[in-house]
Amino acid sequence: MAGNWKMYKSVGESLALVQALKEALGDVSHRETVVCPPFTALHAVAEALRGSNIEVGAQNLYPAEEGAYTGEVSPKMLLDVGCQYVILGHSERRQYFQESDAFVNEKVKAALDYGLKLILCVGETLEQREQGRQRSVVSAQVGRDLEDVSADAMKRVAIAYEPIWAIGTGRTATPQQANEMHRAIRDVLSGLYGGEVAQGTSILYGGSVKPLNVDDLMAEPDVDGTLVGGASLEAESFIRIVRFQT
Ligand code: PEP
Repeated sequence: MAGNWKMYKSVGESLALVQALKEALGDVSHRETVVCPPFTALHAVAEALRGSNIEVGAQNLYPAEEGAYTGEVSPKMLLDVGCQYVILGHSERRQYFQESDAFVNEKVKAALDYGLKLILCVGETLEQREQGRQRSVVSAQVGRDLEDVSADAMKRVAIAYEPIWAIGTGRTATPQQANEMHRAIRDVLSGLYGGEVAQGTSILYGGSVKPLNVDDLMAEPDVDGTLVGGASLEAESFIRIVRFQT
């Protein structure tokens, strides 16, 4: 269960949130919880969560170790501040920063080369869904974003299916729509890596996940977790989401 804080929260606000999460989720086992603060809060959050059952992720990286890339952050730097995870290919980055599948693929390989775990986001636009193209669009994204990624490295990859029309809109995919797409993604993984890797890969749903809809989403057989934006910014709602009941 992962929280994407996007461009929200100062260092102080981030620390207050993770303190509340740490206290409330200390007894949660067999469920992986990840928070993804903005770059500016990563180090403080990682320090605050050290030794806890909550992991820390970044929201992006640049696929080089170091160099003259003004404004960018490398995978090595993410490890240095205590990150275990990184979100890649989020639709906001594809849309506002023109990230192509080829560039996402470079980032995926760089993250894996440095030992990071990653959440790879894929998803169709409303127009593509209305044209009935969601399956082909998402399958193509998965194939291109994972090019040259080995079956062994897939142990550190989770995929987040995030229909763009459901992100930040309050409009959630129905549990059935989510499950159908997760199954399609698992079929693609099975074709690329075989059934064992496909079954072993966590496929998260993202798009207006809230305390009120998480239980139904998580009850679907192919929904292994959620990537949560807005509802991860408040301790109470994210705690309820991590503590989903099926
Ligand atoms: C996201 O940022 O990945 C997301 C799914 O946002 P929200 O939950 O706010 O729709």
